[in-house]
Amino acid sequence: MAELPILPTTVIGSYPRPKWLREAIRLHKAGKLDDEEMTEAFNDAALAIMRDHQLAGVDVPTDGEVKRDEMVEFFAERLGGFRFYGPVRVWGTAYYVKPAVVSKVEYKSPLLVDEFLYTKSISYTENVKITITGPYTLAYWSYNEYYKTRQDLAYDLAKVINKELHNLVEAGARIIQIDEPAIHSTKEDVEWAVDVVNESLKGINAKLVMHVCYGDYKIVAPYLNDFKVDQINFALKIYDYEPLELFKKYNYSKEIGVGVIDVHSKRVETPEEVMKDILNTLNYFEPEKVWINPDCGLKLLPRKLAFQKLVSMVKGTQMAREELKKRGYKDTIKL
Ligand SMILES: [Zn+2]
Repeated sequence: MAELPILPTTVIGSYPRPKWLREAIRLHKAGKLDDEEMTEAFNDAALAIMRDHQLAGVDVPTDGEVKRDEMVEFFAERLGGFRFYGPVRVWGTAYYVKPAVVSKVEYKSPLLVDEFLYTKSISYTENVKITITGPYTLAYWSYNEYYKTRQDLAYDLAKVINKELHNLVEAGARIIQIDEPAIHSTKEDVEWAVDVVNESLKGINAKLVMHVCYGDYKIVAPYLNDFKVDQINFALKIYDYEPLELFKKYNYSKEIGVGVIDVHSKRVETPEEVMKDILNTLNYFEPEKVWINPDCGLKLLPRKLAFQKLVSMVKGTQMAREELKKRGYKDTIKL
């Protein structure tokens, strides 16, 4: 079984696309780059981002999700049952393309297996993570024009995601993160949403992580232990770690991925600040159960800042490890 340093560092998934990649995508859409050249550009970008993660010293990297436009659209485009209308405005000036479900959702062919195999082939560590949008978030961020209820739609999506996860494990995926940023959107859904997520993870033999970020953690806190995952990572920096009290109140007992980097702020956290935040978290959780990550994907930051923030995250974590050493902890954990 693989070993990791205590307080393993990881990313949530996305990373800023290099400017030249955005240009290549534009040229491809205009017919000036063929598909093969576009694939080459995507692979080159994944290489560059993997290298950024390596230089920053991240223990469990991704490819920056550089080949995916957006976390719902990417999947909706590749599954049966969806169609697209126009873009929807979110948060002032940001737009996203909200898909509509117009017939039974169907798994047509693998979604992420090629992406995973390429990432694995260029990774500097075998401890690479693959991320996938979860069934509840896919359902919540789509218009439902076919199923009787959102719940029916979400259960069918869980079956689809489960098929993909089986294929990813077969391709060698060992650390899988299911992204459910919408899980705490409504009180009415959350109870069955837990079942939906668990349904999507049925029979999946890998280290399973769930990502939850912005919103009201009070909605999901009573259910956190019911998710059949090994770890949940949270946006915490932006909330100044207040939710830790809430997690304690509900005896949250799985591994926790602690957000120590605010991805909405252009201020780069200092390593000392990161260390202090980690040590504070250790008042609530055993060090062996704590992983370190940014609050969310880094995609919307300028690339240089995203890199600097990762460097600070790793340096601050190294300082916290020194402190743990003094307290007599072993310096590695089992994956
Ligand atoms: Zn997030």
